[in-house]
Amino acid sequence: MTEKTSTTESLGRLRSRIRDAWDLDPVFIDPIIAPGLTKNQKLSVKRASENTAESGIPHFIAIVPEIALAVGDDWDRFTADLAYVVHADGDAEQSLVLFSEGASAAAARAYLVDDNGPVVPPDAANLTRSATDDFLPVELSVPYLLGVLVAAAKGTQPPDPPDFDTRDPGDRSEDYIEATGLGNGNPDVTVFGAAAVAALGLSVWLMRRREKYSWKTSLTTAPELVRSARLRSRADQVLEPLPEPHEPSEETWQLYDRGRRIQDALRALVESHPDWADNPDFAHRCGVFVLVSTDKWVRKRLRGSSSADEEAPRFCFLFPHHRGGIERFALEQNRTMLRVDLCEHCRAEINAGHEPERLMVPKRPGSKRAVPYFRRSDAYAASGFGSFQPLEDALVEAQSVRAGQERSR
Ligand SMILES: [Zn+2]
Repeated sequence: MTEKTSTTESLGRLRSRIRDAWDLDPVFIDPIIAPGLTKNQKLSVKRASENTAESGIPHFIAIVPEIALAVGDDWDRFTADLAYVVHADGDAEQSLVLFSEGASAAAARAYLVDDNGPVVPPDAANLTRSATDDFLPVELSVPYLLGVLVAAAKGTQPPDPPDFDTRDPGDRSEDYIEATGLGNGNPDVTVFGAAAVAALGLSVWLMRRREKYSWKTSLTTAPELVRSARLRSRADQVLEPLPEPHEPSEETWQLYDRGRRIQDALRALVESHPDWADNPDFAHRCGVFVLVSTDKWVRKRLRGSSSADEEAPRFCFLFPHHRGGIERFALEQNRTMLRVDLCEHCRAEINAGHEPERLMVPKRPGSKRAVPYFRRSDAYAASGFGSFQPLEDALVEAQSVRAGQERSR
């Protein structure tokens, strides 16, 4: 086994230990180092967590062995990714996530996470080392960094750095610089240099990540589809009478029924959202796009056209206008596996560890908060644009539910 593989594997194991523990308790102390912490250190971490809970913002703390220097850049990615995952699994607007080594705060990583990804608040980045010589011990760094995170989340003044006399670092048996092999030459310059490079690398990486994922906090505005896919005129064509099957059979009459349901669904959509083409909620125009595309296929099949595909058109679950190379795919969403249709591009992105862009819509009508369409509970979410059930069925069902509610009023 190469060194790289073993690092990747041990980080993978640590990751699932932390993630599972956080489901039960916001404080994870790695059992490997727990016996080495004093009572006071554990108490201080626990109190800091209780104080943070009063802010009402979800927080997660992991106290881990000294691993950051051993894994280098991977530690930044590991912590930032895990911070994002635990935030995304919840439904809060912000989460606070802190990783700290058990002995010192040398490798503390403090993240304020929103839907765009994690950021390191400036005051948290400063605290890797005290002015004189030593790194802050865990019992001081954890309360301080959590205070910084709460202040950054609420936009208030950060707390003063802890009062720590580094000329008297207590009974720590080993010198940090010696222990990490950075003892040659001028230790301060070496360590500060290494810390600064690490911090710079991290912030560049986080910024790229935030840029790449900026779609997560904005409503989808492209592609506009109404003009580019001629949705208005094609919607009118859908409502024209269907041709009777060229070759009458059970199968073609079923297709004919499907064509009728598509017409009903389109009428229901337009009736409930007459502004579908201008609505800031792009799910409506995607819905029309899916209906007109399916109608086109139905009509071709009814006419017996030789250019009609055997199979009905399929649409990418994440963004229904993606059409290329659609296949069934097990997609992890909020720790559950969904079997959905995904296009080639989205599958490649996910397999490379990225998150492909998805159709982002207002959480509620008129709301500015953008959520993936499948996080709502409307007909689009229920159908997944065909991944779970045909869109026309979901739209027709939703309309009959609405009609039922109106009758009972
Ligand atoms: Zn796609």
